Amino acid sequence: MTLPEVPPGFYWTEESWGAALRCRALDPIAQHLFTTRQLQLPADEAWRALAAAVGVAGDHVVSLNQVHGRDVVVVRDTLPGERPKADALVSDRPDAALVVRAADCVPLLIGDVVVAIGPAIGPCCYEVGSDLVDAFAAAGHERYLIDRWFLTPREQKMRLDVVGANRDHLVLAGVREENIHASGLCTAMHLDVLTSYRAEKEHAGRIAGVIRACPRTNEVSRGATTVNRS
Ligand SMILES: [Zn+2]
Repeated sequence: MTLPEVPPGFYWTEESWGAALRCRALDPIAQHLFTTRQLQLPADEAWRALAAAVGVAGDHVVSLNQVHGRDVVVVRDTLPGERPKADALVSDRPDAALVVRAADCVPLLIGDVVVAIGPAIGPCCYEVGSDLVDAFAAAGHERYLIDRWFLTPREQKMRLDVVGANRDHLVLAGVREENIHASGLCTAMHLDVLTSYRAEKEHAGRIAGVIRACPRTNEVSRGATTVNRS
C-alpha cells in the first residue's frame, strides 16, 4: 500500500493497525489522529487499539451514535455510558479520547482554535443535484457562499466542495485561516487507505478522527513511529 502525499502540515505515522494521519499544528495542543481503513471499527479490539494509540484507557474512548444533527455533547465529570445521539463532542479531560467517524463526511478535530480537517470526499468526486443548492439556500446560506461551494466544471454535473464549506463556516465563526489545516485527501480517490460511502455504498467502513486534551509532544509516543516519505 502506498500512502498518498499529504500537505506539509500533515504526516503519516505507523500504528498497531497500519497508518494514521496527524496534523503538526495540533500536536502541541492535543494528542490526536485520523485512522485509515486498516483499523476496522467497530470491532472491540479496534477500539482498544485506538485507545492505546492516543494513550487513554480502553474504556475512556467516547464515541457517538451519529445522526447528521446539530447536537453537541459536552463530556465533563462522567463519561457517557451509552453512545449519545449527536455529531460533536467537547471535553477538556486529558484522560478521555473523543471519536467521530466518517466515510466521506468531513471529520473535524479542534484543539483551542486549531482545526484539523481530515480526509473527506472532494469536489472531484462529489456530484450533487440542484435540489441541494435549494436546501442550502433554504437553510439561510448566502448566495456568494453557495456559489463558492457548488462548482460546475464545464459540461459536467454540479459538484459540492464540502471541505471548502466547512472552512468558510469556521472562518465566519471567527477562526483564523492560518489555524485551519486540511489534509486535502479525497476519500473516494484513495480507497486502499480510506473509506467512501459514495464509492462503496453500504460496504463502506468508517475512518475515525480521535482527539484528546493532552499535547502529543509532552509524552513519549506509545509505539507510534513517523513514516518518512521521500
Ligand atoms: Zn475525489
